[in-house]
Order: sequence, then structure tokens, then C-alpha cells
Amino acid sequence: MRQPTQGIHHITAFVQNAQKTVDFYAGVLGLRLVKKTINFDAPEVYHLYFGNEIGKPGTIITFFPWENSRKGRIGGGQVGITTYVVPQNSLDFWRRRLERFQVKTTEQVRFKEKYLQFKDPDGLQLEIVERENGENSNWTFGDVSVDKAIKGFGGAVLYSTKPEKTAQTLGNVMGLKRVGMEGSFIRFQATGEIGNIIDIDQSVTYAGLGGAGTVHHIAWRAKSDEEHVLWREHVEQSGYHPTTIIDRQYFHAIYFREDGEILFEIATDPPGFANDEPAEHLGEKLMLPAWFEQYRKGIEEGLPKIEVRSPEEEVQ
Ligand code: ZN
Repeated sequence: MRQPTQGIHHITAFVQNAQKTVDFYAGVLGLRLVKKTINFDAPEVYHLYFGNEIGKPGTIITFFPWENSRKGRIGGGQVGITTYVVPQNSLDFWRRRLERFQVKTTEQVRFKEKYLQFKDPDGLQLEIVERENGENSNWTFGDVSVDKAIKGFGGAVLYSTKPEKTAQTLGNVMGLKRVGMEGSFIRFQATGEIGNIIDIDQSVTYAGLGGAGTVHHIAWRAKSDEEHVLWREHVEQSGYHPTTIIDRQYFHAIYFREDGEILFEIATDPPGFANDEPAEHLGEKLMLPAWFEQYRKGIEEGLPKIEVRSPEEEVQ
């Protein structure tokens, strides 16, 4: 039997500069660069994955850095805000840390939870919330200790061109539970510990424009390949037109655009990021799928050099 999704598997966004993205997500937010690979559909561009120490589903944000690409506009048909969850009593630490690196923060309260909101260098909207749920990340970086480190996604705020339709899809197709309404927000909950709280902000319905600084798609978790096949049937029976199952090396994927124009993916938990390199060395080497290995030299020469480095020295 197909189970409802546990929540978010990963979120993928477009940005412009690879090093700036590494500096922000690994350096400032203290996530681990768990995979350095290329866009399988455009090998001249990196595909960078950041997550907890093993890149567990529900912790992974991925980027295609296209230098000089068109700036997008955040709006309907996109993930509007990506929510990170941190342990209790660490929000003040994050406010101070972000301010120290000149990241402006504001606060919002939704459903009695306090959110620290800010933007990444390309303008992607992010926020951090404290919650009890979800195990601590074991990845530490700079002065981000385990009791402060980002655990993974808390969830996301969706901007839909048709919020009621998106709400129906989250409930009827993905199996999330509608748990509340407040102001313009409808709140949904999935069964997982992290990446499980999804808000639709009904006040934003003007269409977004894809490009740098916007989320490209949100992927939901399927537990196994067997379940993934059933998910595909279920999505099709629900009136959508999912792609065939695509091998993404670290998971299998299907994609479909829901009625509110947000691109949904359903991705399998296995095999994960230790599929092609040892867990201790994730993200250190450029990983290529077998069919690109013969072009490695040219691909490496074409990509900008990037490194995970500490932002601490720069500001002191
Ligand atoms: Zn994806």
C-alpha cells in the first residue's frame, strides 16, 4: 500500500554564482556540501547539494548556479519561502550569526511560532523556526555547534496561482493533513518529523517568473522504489501527467506540475548520497554519472573552482 508522503525530500533552486552559494549555505548556514555534481541535462553547470551530515531526505537543498542567468521573480507557482528548523533555544544564536554576516533578518509569527526570515545572496526567501521534532544534525561548522545546527527543513510556504487547487492536491494526492487556517495561511502537516509543515500563503497569487533567486521545484518523499511506482500510478489516476521515472543517481524521480503551477517531484529515499562516494568524503570531489566520466577533463575545466571555506576570518 502507498503511504502518504512523509514530507519534503529536497528543494531545488536557481542561483547565479556557485562560490557565493557555497559560502552562504555551507559557510553561513553551516550545512554540509554533500554532493558536487553537474546538471545531468546541462553538464556545463554544477548541481550542488547541501544537507545534514549524510544529506538525509528532508534536509537537502540543491542549486543550479548559472552565471549571468536571468533573475527570476518570486510569486505564484513556486515555493515562496523555504523553512529551516533548528533546535529549541537557538533562534537568538541564528539572529546574531546572520547579522554578523550582514544578512538582514525580520520576524514573523504564524500559528504561534516565531520565524526568523531572511534572504540568500540571490534573493531566495528563507526562514528559521525552532521545533522539538527532528533529530539534531551531527554536522558542525565554524561556531555552529550540534545544539544550534540546522536539522533540516521545517517545511515550506507555497505561493500558488490557485491556492484552493494546491490545497486539494496536498490533501488528496500527497496525503497531507489540513491542520489549520490563520489569516491568509492554510497549514498542512505530513507524517515525517522534519520537512512536514507546509503553509500555503493565499495572499500571493500573481505569477512568479522562473530564474535566479527562485525555487524551481519541491520534491516529496517516497519510501522505496516499489512505493514510487505506486505513487506514479496514483498521480496519474488523480488526473496529472507525471514524467516517466528518471534516474537521478541519488534517488529516482517523477515530476508533474500541480494545478497551482508549482512543479512537484516525487523522489525516493534510497539510495542516497553515499551511492558513489564514501560518506566521510561527501561533496569533496566532482562526481559524474558513468555516462559522463569520459568527458570529465573538459567538464572540470569548464566549471568555476569552488571551495567550502569559513566566513569567520573575513569579518573579524
Ligand atoms: Zn529535484
